[in-house]
Amino acid sequence: MTSYHPRNTKPMRDSPRCGAKTRRGTPCQAPAVAGKRRCRMHGGAKGSGAPKGNQNALKHGRHTAHSKETRLLIRAFVQRTREIIEEI
Ligand SMILES: [Zn+2]
Repeated sequence: MTSYHPRNTKPMRDSPRCGAKTRRGTPCQAPAVAGKRRCRMHGGAKGSGAPKGNQNALKHGRHTAHSKETRLLIRAFVQRTREIIEEI
């Protein structure tokens, strides 16, 4: 996508686009809200989205912040244990 334009529009063209499916079935492609993956019409607007700790979509709890933190600690523990065994 490099069409001639008298002004510098590269940052504009390179900005992440909204991938929401439109009624036509094609991706929305409007510029996504900064730091988000959707445009202001498709859930990128300020205040949209679930509050922290919302469990409405919880299926098995494998990806919650708590379980991720627990896995990280266990991994560090196993790593340290291996190092100690290695030293012996
Ligand atoms: Zn959109």
